[in-house]
Amino acid sequence: MEIIEGIILKQINYKESSKIIYLYTKNGLISVLVHGSNKLKSPYLNLVRVFSQVKLHVSGKNLKTLRDGEVINNNLEFTKDFDKYTYILHLTEIIYYFSGHDHDHEKLYLFLNKIFKQLRLTDDYIPFINMAELKLLYLLGVQPMLDKCVICGSTNNLTFSVEDGGLCCELHKENAVFQKETITLLKSLYYYDFNNPQPISYNKNSLMNLRLLIDEYYEYHLNYRSKSRKMLKELISY
Ligand SMILES: [Zn+2]
Repeated sequence: MEIIEGIILKQINYKESSKIIYLYTKNGLISVLVHGSNKLKSPYLNLVRVFSQVKLHVSGKNLKTLRDGEVINNNLEFTKDFDKYTYILHLTEIIYYFSGHDHDHEKLYLFLNKIFKQLRLTDDYIPFINMAELKLLYLLGVQPMLDKCVICGSTNNLTFSVEDGGLCCELHKENAVFQKETITLLKSLYYYDFNNPQPISYNKNSLMNLRLLIDEYYEYHLNYRSKSRKMLKELISY
């Protein structure tokens, strides 16, 4: 018997009445077979819900099978507001997609716990979704350069260029479209320290532009866009 703790990112039906759940843990993605979880009276119903943080007792080597477990946080509040649900779906889809990449899973798992805590606590949750997306860029090794012009190193009058992967000065701003207030928000989230939390200030416009910036950045540097992002666009109209 082995105990694993993680956040459920995804579940799929398996055979007649079982499921396979995919947990993100400090060791990366782990899949677990749950027998009979589709039956109405299954004692495991609470242990297979997407977004739940769980501690599971499993057995088996190649395919781990659930034996018992407990819910640490059911995160049920994530499903009550459809916008919020879709944002979190978008985030978990990204984590799932890049879970095969060889990055620091323990760091990401612990960070994800902090993000989920904020998502439970605050109604102003969108910056924390963006924060997770930005910090993941660092773990994936494609972080933007945010302290000087990527081309000449100048620190004056900087704008942001997705294509160039960071800030650009007046001379080198050919591809730069994102302006100061979006960059300020981006930096405050990218460098955010949970051990020394500062209030995050922004306006609606910079939040929208940051959303577009992150989308473009993921597309350009990682060739990725989540399926949930399309659904989100229908809800928030950008
Ligand atoms: Zn320059």
